Amino acid sequence: MSEIQKNIERLQNLLPERVSLVAVSKFHPVAALQEAYDAGQRIFGESRAQELQQKVPMLPADVQWHFIGHLQTNKVRAIVPHVSLIHSIDSEKLLRTVDAEAARIGRTVDVLLQLHVAKETTKFGLTPDECVAVVHGCVPELEHVRIRGVMGMATNTDDEAEIRQEFRAIKAVFDTLKNGKMQTEGYFDTISMGMSDDFQIAIEEGSTMVRIGSLIFGERQY
Ligand SMILES: *Cc1c(COP(=O)(O)O)cnc(C)c1O
Repeated sequence: MSEIQKNIERLQNLLPERVSLVAVSKFHPVAALQEAYDAGQRIFGESRAQELQQKVPMLPADVQWHFIGHLQTNKVRAIVPHVSLIHSIDSEKLLRTVDAEAARIGRTVDVLLQLHVAKETTKFGLTPDECVAVVHGCVPELEHVRIRGVMGMATNTDDEAEIRQEFRAIKAVFDTLKNGKMQTEGYFDTISMGMSDDFQIAIEEGSTMVRIGSLIFGERQY
């Protein structure tokens, strides 16, 4: 059994059933993705439009591609035909652009709203208030995007209490929407949080989807 295969099995055994695994394959060659596919992995996360476009035709058609990186509006057209979930909607303008592009090609795209809860200013995302405002402003109106939930990243730190508090803040926004505006929308069910270094804490704090790269594929290449 290959290392990648072993890593996926180990993770699948660790994750509760409610938590799905996104294998973050950015910067890894398609041969590595194929190994993960052969081990049963179907959801792959990419963070750059061009890399995603190059990889899509090289893997089987039943792969579910998730876009997890910062998305510029001028890259929306390139990815919308390929993705089953965009994790990184960080403005109303971007959400409206995705909706328009999805409408143009006659499909509906699932998305998550990305929250900025980390201390690092380099990270992207909406504040909790902005996130709630986007949902209220867009849900009745936009017909070609489905807001499935929220996504966020914790600060890159050894301070477990800090990480836990940030994940709690993400979960709290989800709960606010789930108990409010999105109450009757059964599809609003996803909390994407947790990476290689912090996914166990994320799961304890309510994550339903973890995005894991290094623990599956090792250090990123090229
Ligand atoms: C790269 C990346 C990950 C995976 O990070 P690892 O530490 O390798 O698990 C998860 N989420 C996002 C948004 C990323 O950019």
